[in-house]
Amino acid sequence: MGAQPGFSRRMRVFSGRVSGLLLMVWITMMAGCGGPSSSEHEFTFESMGTMASCRLTLPQDLSAKQAEAMVRETFAEVNTALSTWLPNSEISRLSRAAADSAVTISPLLRTCLLTSQQLHKKSQGAFDPTAESLLRLWGFYSDQGRLPGRAALDSALADLGQWHLEGLPGRVVKDKPGTRFDLGGIAKGLAVDLAAARLRKSGVGHGLIDLGGNLYCLGGAPGRENWRVGLRNPHNRDEIFASVTITEASVATSGSYERFVEIDGRRYGHIMNPATGRPAEGLLSATVIAENGILADGLSTTLFVLGPQKALPFLAEYYPQVEAVLVVLAEPAELATIRITNGLKGRFFLHPGFEKQFQVVVED
Ligand code: ADP
Ligand code: MG
Repeated sequence: MGAQPGFSRRMRVFSGRVSGLLLMVWITMMAGCGGPSSSEHEFTFESMGTMASCRLTLPQDLSAKQAEAMVRETFAEVNTALSTWLPNSEISRLSRAAADSAVTISPLLRTCLLTSQQLHKKSQGAFDPTAESLLRLWGFYSDQGRLPGRAALDSALADLGQWHLEGLPGRVVKDKPGTRFDLGGIAKGLAVDLAAARLRKSGVGHGLIDLGGNLYCLGGAPGRENWRVGLRNPHNRDEIFASVTITEASVATSGSYERFVEIDGRRYGHIMNPATGRPAEGLLSATVIAENGILADGLSTTLFVLGPQKALPFLAEYYPQVEAVLVVLAEPAELATIRITNGLKGRFFLHPGFEKQFQVVVED
């Protein structure tokens, strides 16, 4: 399967594993439910550089074909506007814009940039929608990793964050020509929100939308109060090691194991720490459960950058209603720690057999 321009080159990086990915993107367990009933519809397709899959309970006046087209078109719309991989996307044009010229932006881009700006401020720069210069320097756009030299690193760091919104806000002004945008840390979350809103408007009360590990759960699973969502083991992504129950909410996971470059035999993950200019370290994965996809996606990236010490205090201070599951990097011989927020007590389940590898710590 060829790579589709999207938010990551995951399809190409893992080109031999597309069908595996397709089945294992996230496992949704619906204990007690048999196969889909006549009003249930499941479909999978490739979008935004990853796999999308949906399981929807359709109302009588919405055909499977219509529902599928609605989701596909929504994701394509977000990709066309916000993909760094498309030279003519709105975001790529903004990246090429001259400094000091005001660029009028679409409502989609405005939503993305407003949330990005909020996360950037609150996280003191850990989330940065202009990490493009760092990603480029480390070779993430060419899949050819390279260790940057000090001068190149300093120059890329100086290009970070040099932009502001103005107008309603309806315009973006870059303060430096080298500032370029990459919304890969947040746009898939926005896409699932849009798809969920459109499906709900068409009468879909129960459904699960999964775009490369960014999920939106409409209502609960059919006949149940909630959905039970499987989390991948960051040590072995083909295994589901834990699950959480959620209703009418979004779940997103960031992990360095999802996309990386290899330099001198070492793997470097695709989430950059703007404080150092290097790939973020310290966590294996950060899962966030929030009221909507854009926040879950943006926050999962933010927590991953903040790392094991700062992530949960940050959440408690700024987003107390948001829940998280962090898997902390440990030495090979050590038991790995999973930190979960207090609100997940009774909703987070470590699956049998994994107690030997992980210990769960609930934050107060
Ligand atoms: P995924 O793309 O695997 O779903 P994330 O949501 O965590 O994972 O997003 C990671 C992507 O976010 C990177 O591939 C890159 O496009 C972008 N990114 C990298 N570093 C940062 C950062 N510090 N702040 C915001 N976005 C980032
Ligand atoms: Mg994210």
